Parts: sequence; structure tokens; C-alpha cells
Amino acid sequence: MTSAVDARARSNVTPPERMRAWVLHGPGELSFEEKPVPAPERAEVLVRVDAVAICATDLDVIWHGPPALIEGGAPFHKGFTPGHEYMGTVAALGPGVDEYQVGERVTVEIHAGCGQCKRCRQGMYTSCLNYGLNYGARDKGHRANGFTTDGGFAEYAVNNINTLARVPDEMSDEEATLVVTAGTAMYGLTELGGLVAGESVVVTGPGPIGLLGVAVAKALGAQPVILTGTRDNRLEIGRKLGADHTINVRREDPVERVMALTHGRGVDYVLECSAATDALNQAAHMVNRGGRICLAAFPHEPVMVDVAHIVRNNIYVFGIRGEGRSATHRAAALMQQRRFDATLIHTHTFAMADLPEALRYARERVDDAIKIVVKSDHHAATL
Ligand SMILES: [Zn+2]
Ligand SMILES: [Zn+2]
Repeated sequence: MTSAVDARARSNVTPPERMRAWVLHGPGELSFEEKPVPAPERAEVLVRVDAVAICATDLDVIWHGPPALIEGGAPFHKGFTPGHEYMGTVAALGPGVDEYQVGERVTVEIHAGCGQCKRCRQGMYTSCLNYGLNYGARDKGHRANGFTTDGGFAEYAVNNINTLARVPDEMSDEEATLVVTAGTAMYGLTELGGLVAGESVVVTGPGPIGLLGVAVAKALGAQPVILTGTRDNRLEIGRKLGADHTINVRREDPVERVMALTHGRGVDYVLECSAATDALNQAAHMVNRGGRICLAAFPHEPVMVDVAHIVRNNIYVFGIRGEGRSATHRAAALMQQRRFDATLIHTHTFAMADLPEALRYARERVDDAIKIVVKSDHHAATL
């Protein structure tokens, strides 16, 4: 952990003109090379990246392309730097910026919408209608770092001030990288879902969003909170984060068990994070009449769905893209208040120079890796 004073002292220097950044060439081909340090413009700051977490979506971007969209197409061979779950220290301010100061520790959310479309005006900037229209003569102002603009697998990144949340002194760099993941769960449960205290929740799939979904639901007063999954060690972490009940779907029928735990009624919400082929059908049988299903994971193939059951039971089904309506700020507040220990999902740490090995751990789930954090060593950087 670094104190704010240390950080201020360390960063109170003019940023260099060149930096090292991971650049995506062909699918799965990254190289650590020199790039100009980007300059912050109006409403932007330059962030010195101190730590960045690896997300399953980074693996999709690096090996397959979508959902990254660079210059209107695939992200390959365009000098693009991925990485979107980072935190760091404000290193320079764009013109007119007085909301932040050089030296402050910040963590980021991904999407700065265009600010002028219908969705952005509703606060749903992660669903910006001008998504990816930010190149050439057609710059609509949309930015999604690590998806449509350069991200955090680098020494520096430029961020819109609306994508920043302050990091308290007592929060470690590693923990701060997890704020946006908690913010994503928060967005699905509250801003989109409308969860209030006392309602019941099932989370299916103990990945990072699922586990922090359990934590956020519990912190907001949901009861009971039930977590399903296939691996006992992850279900155990879920219990530590607030799950009242866990169900190993290899040993028990999750629908039957949820029904038994809720006296035959089902729950008010299902947060689907497993991407299993039958997940939506199972969720529709776990949720009560008029209940809500938030889809936070996607199977890579189209799946068959029993629509009639959803219709007859007035079930709401919605997808979630990212962490809109400033949910990240609310998640950061819960973490600052120590309402749950997000670091329980942080399993591995690597140096920025070892990103390929860190990505291998994430892809192959070596050691049952959940969240892997990559840390910059700014002193060792050679420019
Ligand atoms: Zn992510
Ligand atoms: Zn927009």
C-alpha cells in the first residue's frame, strides 16, 4: 500500500514523453513496446497505472477481438493497448480540470459515453448509442478504455474525469482494481434491477462478478443470498463474502434446492454469472412470479429458452453491459466502509512485464486463479 503523500511525492514530476505499453498485434500476440504517453484533453486526466486486474473479457479481446471495437473493426494490428480494470495515480491534468489533483490515487470505470445521446442522458453511458464512434473525422466523444481506446496494460492511460473514483489511503492498489467489478454487480442489482433490502437473491456462477455480486447483495440487505457453482473452494469464498447458502450443482439440483430454501416460492432476483447453456431456463424456475433475472455472462453459442414460462410468470429478463449510472462510486463506498472484503477474490499478482504469463494463468485458471492483478514497477521502467 502507498500513502497519498508518498504517491504525491513520487508523481510530482513531469510525465515522460514515452512509455512502455503492451500492444496487440495478431490474435493473442502482445508485445511490450514504446509508445508516446497520451496527452489529457478537456475533462481528462493522465493516470499513471499502478495496478491492473485481468478480466475474462480481456481474454476475449486479446484472442478473439469483440467486444473491443477499434476504428470500427477488430482490435488487431492497430497499435491498440488492452486492459480496463486499472487504478493508479493522477499524473497530469487536462485543460480546465479542477476535480482532481496530481498525486491523487484513483480507480477507473471503463465507459465514458459521448454524453449527448439518449442513453448517456439517462446515465446509461455503458450503452452509449455512439459506442465506438471515436476515430477519424467522426469523433462523437465516446471512450471505453481497453475496448475502443487504449487501456491500462501500460505505464500511463488517459481517462475522462467521469470514469474516476478516488481511492482511500487505507485501500491497497490491488483492492482498488476490484472496485469496477463490484460496480458491475451493483449496476445489475440496484440501478437496473431495483433491489431493496429484504429481497432474496440467487447468484449463479462464482466468478469475479458473481462473488462480488453476493457481497454487494448482502451488503445492501438482501436475504437470503444463495450462491450456486461447481467448485467448493469458490463456494466457500462466497460464504465468506456473505452467501447464506451455497449449492454445488454437481451434487444437488439447484432449482429444487432454491425452492426448498424459499418455501416453494423462489427468489426475487437471479444474477446469472455462469454462462451455462441452461442457465436462463434454470434461473426462470428459481425466480418467483414477477421476479427479475439479470444476465451478466454470455454463452458463446445461441441457446434454447422456454419463453412461454417467462411470459406466463411475468418474469423480467435483462442483460447488463458494464457499470453505468455511477454504480462504481457506490461500490467504492461499500468497499471503503469495509462492508465486504473484495480481496478474497484476488488470488495472484504479477509484474507488468510478465503480462503474458499472467494472462496464461487467467486463461488456464492455473491454481484456480480468480482475479489476477498485474503491478507496475515504475522505478524499474527503462525509457
Ligand atoms: Zn472487466
Ligand atoms: Zn452516448
